[in-house]
Amino acid sequence: NKIEDDYVMGGALGKGKFGSVFLCRSKVTGVEFACKTLPKGEETVHKEVEIMQHLSGHPGVVTLHSVYEDAESFHLVMELCSGGRLIDEMTKEGRYSEHKSANIFKDLMLVIQYCHDMGVVHRDIKPENILLTASGKIKLADFGLAMRIANGQSLSGLAGSPAYVAPEVLTGDYGQKADIWSAGVLLHALLVGVLPFQGDSLDALFEAIKSMQLDFHSEKWQSVSKLARDLLERILTRDVAARITAEEVLSHPWMMFYTERTL
Ligand code: ADP
Ligand code: MG
Ligand code: MG
Repeated sequence: NKIEDDYVMGGALGKGKFGSVFLCRSKVTGVEFACKTLPKGEETVHKEVEIMQHLSGHPGVVTLHSVYEDAESFHLVMELCSGGRLIDEMTKEGRYSEHKSANIFKDLMLVIQYCHDMGVVHRDIKPENILLTASGKIKLADFGLAMRIANGQSLSGLAGSPAYVAPEVLTGDYGQKADIWSAGVLLHALLVGVLPFQGDSLDALFEAIKSMQLDFHSEKWQSVSKLARDLLERILTRDVAARITAEEVLSHPWMMFYTERTL
């Protein structure tokens, strides 16, 4: 079947580096989905599909419903996240309360922990790739840069988005902890309203990521609770071995204090 046989295509939902994402509606059930169209010949398309299938079933991962192939493209029919992107909500909101930040961050850490337990490094954690459902729950999307790695294995090669990239990605081998760093950059943006590392050029930005000391005791972070600053410091640690894991983030006192208890 061609995708046009089964779905009515609708308007654009977003545009990425390689392809576009459109709204579509099943002709059989009337249910709406998001369709990501990727040009063929991109070897990474197969990997993106394979990893999405591998991770399917977790409530924090965008579900891949079906895949179509024609002469030029692959079409990935995915669960529709009608709440849009977290980045757009952040732009509107400016800064989030500690309570709201902690609840978003907890859901993000649960899905990152799941990916890591499943042997996957996402490598592109940023609010452009975090989508929201109609009820405001987060869904991790865009597994285009994700890699499966065996226990103890590491990756090399620059990947990700400049402001979110971990220092070890810039200098050598890395693994799961690179996602934790990127999530920490996001947490900083949620709580403070600005990115922790900035630069006038790419080189200046990378230099800041590799060497700028963030002193979370200084006045700049006065508006953020002590507990949140402690967590940021433990995540934005250049020493990879000392940086905390997803599991440790989830049991950090800031998480305990500010998230809803589910008993
Ligand atoms: P790229 O790999 O090109 O960055 P993404 O998978 O990140 O592509 O998708 C690009 C954009 O399309 C997203 O930022 C978002 O705006 C939109 N989008 C992607 N998937 C969905 C979805 N399941 N539901 C709604 N919008 C989506
Ligand atoms: Mg993307
Ligand atoms: Mg991608």
